[in-house]
Amino acid sequence: MISSPDNASDNRQPHLTDSVRFLKGVGEVRAALLARLGILTVEDLVYFFPRRYEDRREVLPLKNLHISTSPVAVRVRVVSVERRITKHKQIELLRACVTDGESLAYAVWFQRRGLMSLLKPGVELALYGRVIFHGKVPEIENPELEILDDDQGHSVGCIVPIYPTTAGLQPKWLRRLISDTLNNVKDQIVENLPVQLLEKYEFPSASEAVIQMHNPTDASSWRSSRRRLAFEEFYTLQLGLSVRRRFSLANRKALPLTGEPELLKRFLQILPFQLTEDQKQVAREISNDLKCPFPMNRLLQGDVGSGKTVVALLAILQAIDSGCQAALMAPTAVLAQQHRITLETWLKPLGLEVALLLGGQPASERKKTCEGLISGNLKLVIGTHALLQETVNFNNLGLVVIDEQHRFGVLQRLALSNKGNTWTPHTLVMTATPIPRTLALSIYGDLAVSTIRHLPMGRRPIRTVWIRSNRKPGMMAFLEKEMGEGRQVYWVCPIIEESENIDASPLESCFETLQAAYPGRRVAMLHGRLPQAEKERIMHDFAAGYINLLAATTIIEVGVDVPNATVMVIENADRFGLSQLHQLRGRVGRGEHQSWCVLLADSHGDESVQRLEALCQSSDGFQIAETDMKLRGPGEFCGVKQHGLTDFRVADILHDGDLMELARTEAIETTKNVDPFATNPNLMKTVLERYGKLLDIVRTG
Ligand code: ADP
Ligand code: MG
Repeated sequence: MISSPDNASDNRQPHLTDSVRFLKGVGEVRAALLARLGILTVEDLVYFFPRRYEDRREVLPLKNLHISTSPVAVRVRVVSVERRITKHKQIELLRACVTDGESLAYAVWFQRRGLMSLLKPGVELALYGRVIFHGKVPEIENPELEILDDDQGHSVGCIVPIYPTTAGLQPKWLRRLISDTLNNVKDQIVENLPVQLLEKYEFPSASEAVIQMHNPTDASSWRSSRRRLAFEEFYTLQLGLSVRRRFSLANRKALPLTGEPELLKRFLQILPFQLTEDQKQVAREISNDLKCPFPMNRLLQGDVGSGKTVVALLAILQAIDSGCQAALMAPTAVLAQQHRITLETWLKPLGLEVALLLGGQPASERKKTCEGLISGNLKLVIGTHALLQETVNFNNLGLVVIDEQHRFGVLQRLALSNKGNTWTPHTLVMTATPIPRTLALSIYGDLAVSTIRHLPMGRRPIRTVWIRSNRKPGMMAFLEKEMGEGRQVYWVCPIIEESENIDASPLESCFETLQAAYPGRRVAMLHGRLPQAEKERIMHDFAAGYINLLAATTIIEVGVDVPNATVMVIENADRFGLSQLHQLRGRVGRGEHQSWCVLLADSHGDESVQRLEALCQSSDGFQIAETDMKLRGPGEFCGVKQHGLTDFRVADILHDGDLMELARTEAIETTKNVDPFATNPNLMKTVLERYGKLLDIVRTG
């Protein structure tokens, strides 16, 4: 039993920081179950909010019961109880005759023998369940039940919170635990928001808001409580970001990149195509930033194939024209190599060398690159996260470009921008997965965003089809035809080798099958475990058109650019996320020929069907990103989950965009011209507790 507030007085009152283990009625076993829900301390419990609510405010007299599809709440007294075994199927049935003093009803439970001892005649009950009729007397089926010994109960007559739960924890027990604990500790809930804000927005106090979240009086007080708590979460985050800008970033200076655009001009002359209007526009935005004496912090977003690389290259040339070095960081070695090939063809004519820095390179090669970077002889280096290693140093790093940002965390980005010696380098982050503004604000604070909205002219839309394995033979014949016409094909598998645990086609056996199926074609296999040199050779041969069909893992997911490849086959497509599928599809449709994306999947699952259909219907990366984020949640979606920046208890990045803006404005206001640590010490303590580590906030002075 859980103690009620009165008879707990002999015990010490629990404190918010206490472990739930020591709450009355919890113990070791239930503490372990609560931990599964992320509840370790009393505070966690108090901030563990309902998933939804059931409005059981109306308690019906039994005479008013009708057949109902939705459950109803009643308060009754037990008259008698009988136990029966149904003839059919031998199910044990417990039937209580109950009354509200005026009329009678039955309550029926199946397979609940234990109830027999509780349902003594005269016991008061709150019931909540669906009503059916056998004859004239209403029957409440399998109702949720609460025994009303002392008070009016928690399960009817009010709006009842429904908490997420886990196997082994009775919902009713959890509800009671939270309610009793909250009663005991509500005075300890700290008010973080400054008084001015509480007044300005007419927010309820912190403890009132928490209470309302659990036991709302009505919809409108719930709404304002939720809003207040969500605001507080955004506000503390924004304060963290704001303080970081003030104390950690504000003193950083960047070299203005204002050199004569010699290389840039020559490059534009040899560029084989016209820049699109969008490309010109974003290039102007970037160029203007680069000319400023403080570090640029800009996100360039544009769908796969929208031509971000050439825009980055313009920025790189501006850096080199201004006497600086530039670094381009990619999430995979394959993509880094691909960039190297592309950039080399463009930059060789200008007499620029492009260095490559990858993990697992021969030591001598690596040493040579590092020396070139420290001496300043090398102007441009392309690499993976190997660029972040401490042994890599620059002579005069002016610009860092990070491609396909959704693969990187926030902190890595900072690590690279610290390599700029006296100056902080300008940073350009590129992504094909558009980040909604709210999310961008919460991860980056004040990242400026440039967007390429339209693809270059003359692209034919990729045709996407989803087929089941019975239609594979027809598809294979189609591939033969495409290859016969000189086109190239990607075939992507989710795993490399056979595994008893994963029910998916492994790349290795798929490769063998494809080799056998296309004896006249050159079929190659590419995956992450191959030696570096081997990967390079295969990518090179594929780009050169020497390989007809490339069976690969998702290693080719981002950035790979071979315009002659026209078919992307994705095996077990249901195993991939939506954005990932869109990225994979973006590997084709880059040239003049009609391209295809074939999704192979036999799945029937609701969510995977939704994903596959969404992909067949839309080719708009922005729309797909949004759907994906809805299906997977924002943290998972942009890979920042591990950073905890988007782990809000109440706030919802997808729907509370306006609140985030508001919180940001207020946070800037709160920290303007004052030291917030002096003016709002308690608030800032909370901010540091939550975000100090995550945001790398260093307090200097
Ligand atoms: P992403 O934005 O996905 O990184 P890329 O930069 O790889 O796209 O560009 C995709 C392809 O489009 C490349 O082959 C590139 O050379 C080509 N491209 C870029 N801009 C233009 C343009 N303005 N006109 C025609 N082709 C372009
Ligand atoms: Mg790219």
